[in-house]
Amino acid sequence: MGDLVEKSKAKSALEAVLEERKKLPIYPYRDELLKAIDEHQVLIIVGETGSGKTTQIPQYLHEAGYTKRGLIACTQPRRVATMSVAARVSQEMGVKLGHEVGYSIRFEDCTSDKTIVKYMTDGMLMREFLGEPDLASYSVVMLDEAHERTLSTDILFGLVKDIAPFRPDLKLLISSATLDAEKFSDYFDPAPIFKIPGRRNPVEINFTKAPEADYLDAAIVTALQIHVTQPPGDILVFLTGQEEIETAEEILKHRTRGLGTKIAELMICPIYANLPSELQAKIFEPTPEGARKVVLATNIAETSLTIDRIKYVIDPGFCKMKSYNPRTGMESLLITPISKASAMQRACRSGRTGPGKCFRLYPAYNFQSDLDDNTIPEIQRTNLTNVVLMLKSLGINDLLHSDFMDPPPAEALLKALELLFALGALNKLGELTKVGRLMAEFPLDPMLSKMIVASENYTCSDEIISIAAMLSIGNSIFYCPKDKQVHADNARLNFHSGNVGDHALMKVYNSWKEINYSTQWCYENCIHIRSMKRATDIRDQLAGLLERVEIKLTSNSSDLDAIKKSITSGFFPQSARSQNGSYRTVKHPQTVHIHPSSGLAHVHPRWVIYHELVLTTKEYMRQATELSPDWLVEIAPHYYQLKDVEDSVSKKTLRGLEFYFLLH
Ligand code: ADP
Ligand code: MG
Repeated sequence: MGDLVEKSKAKSALEAVLEERKKLPIYPYRDELLKAIDEHQVLIIVGETGSGKTTQIPQYLHEAGYTKRGLIACTQPRRVATMSVAARVSQEMGVKLGHEVGYSIRFEDCTSDKTIVKYMTDGMLMREFLGEPDLASYSVVMLDEAHERTLSTDILFGLVKDIAPFRPDLKLLISSATLDAEKFSDYFDPAPIFKIPGRRNPVEINFTKAPEADYLDAAIVTALQIHVTQPPGDILVFLTGQEEIETAEEILKHRTRGLGTKIAELMICPIYANLPSELQAKIFEPTPEGARKVVLATNIAETSLTIDRIKYVIDPGFCKMKSYNPRTGMESLLITPISKASAMQRACRSGRTGPGKCFRLYPAYNFQSDLDDNTIPEIQRTNLTNVVLMLKSLGINDLLHSDFMDPPPAEALLKALELLFALGALNKLGELTKVGRLMAEFPLDPMLSKMIVASENYTCSDEIISIAAMLSIGNSIFYCPKDKQVHADNARLNFHSGNVGDHALMKVYNSWKEINYSTQWCYENCIHIRSMKRATDIRDQLAGLLERVEIKLTSNSSDLDAIKKSITSGFFPQSARSQNGSYRTVKHPQTVHIHPSSGLAHVHPRWVIYHELVLTTKEYMRQATELSPDWLVEIAPHYYQLKDVEDSVSKKTLRGLEFYFLLH
């Protein structure tokens, strides 16, 4: 009896979902769209954010029988969006996430034998080509959010275009939220464009009279003003990253406390990539009666995620953007003004369910004269080493003449080839070596993969994959509670005794393992348990990959030099020597610093190698390790000569011209 009640409840929930699906702008075009897909191999689909492209098209295709012939892949540029839409679609289809509908992001595969609709990051689909160059198990590939022009999506354009003639039964859909689809169409010789008309509501756009000195504060003040003076409707604030969002959350909580009971409750919902997924779901929960929701989001809410009932958008006009200097090989993440196209997208998020208002925290003349029309595609402002290794593994050699939608700068390609050559992944002819083939198996940056591959020689692969796993979770291992700062600092520094440097991350990992993955231990040492669990998970996967490439898992924990030499084998291009109280990098000399939070800051060793540089107030080395300079010559004789590691600054750098032949 109870079972029946449950079943009928589930049925009515599904019916309600079906009703909702029918209200989406894409629904009236369902049959026409399926017909167009049937008739053309490549179709460009354009529709405003929220029209139902991501969640509906794969379901329509499934209903039309495409999944009988193979999987449907739908790519997303962002991890959070990938998980979120997969969860939504599994709910709409009334199936368990990971069964018929699943997702795949780096180090997390939530699919099974049953999976027929697979949401995945664009990076994951790119890796899929390594195992299955013709994507034989897929019947449809939908490159979604194509307007974002991420590096992986741009590379995928080329890869799917290449296989299309060999897979006439494979359907390729390129979907985009912006109307400039001609470029996509032209690239695919030309492919027809299917437009899903939007249902637009008017959006009133407000500018400030003068530039704001502190956009974060201005955003908070504006949100509070809207809350106190404007009719009901939720607020969406675009900020640049986790730190800003956390600050804004704290200040908003503090300031709303003093507002008294006459003012409605303000429900604050942050959303950014590293937010745990159970908290991410909160942005989709309906706002309680009488309350107002304010969503503090990164660019993720610009087009990847649609949040219903937003009526007010606050746009400070900035985002975090990667930029790359091919000359020095330096990559940085900088807060940068957005483009006009981005500003338009942001404004539109307010008008989905009714007339909206957008508050731009910059003057109209700034918008007109200072903002670029469009964001530069990532392929033109990023490090290409990873992608070049991938393409070489796929046998694509002539990169300079490859058919890119927008070509990367030749200098950046050259730099990538140089680095891969230095790491031993390519030979002098620019061909993939055995080492390169092994490196490509790991879904990591080439320097990290090289470190792992090299650990075989030093019989310390066990330690090295722990380090790689810990480095892969980024900067979120230690936290620092305000009331226990000294305690937290001491806990962190404890792991640094013995001068291992920041790769003492290994010590953190090992201690955790020794203590049997204890939660209490994490708490006592001010370490995020979530990060540690993730590291364990990543480490297990790396161990699996080691097995696949037949590198033995061997431990050599007492030999610190062996571990450091493995690290050096991957990171030798990033060495620095102490000079006048700071450091100079050896190649492309520039002044850098050890981060004050690092255990090495007090030791100040003469030579270090570092994992990455981050620019905050200064150029800081993140995760540095002490080393002996003669190792550089021992491990990378083709890159360093004795005189480099003596006291004069390096003169011999690899000259671009030497590599001219690599490209031809
Ligand atoms: P598009 O891809 O065209 O931007 P989507 O398919 O993502 O549109 O969204 C269609 C609808 O599904 C929107 O109304 C959105 O609110 C809803 N939706 C999408 N993801 C979720 C989710 N995780 N939870 C609740 N609703 C969602
Ligand atoms: Mg979408």
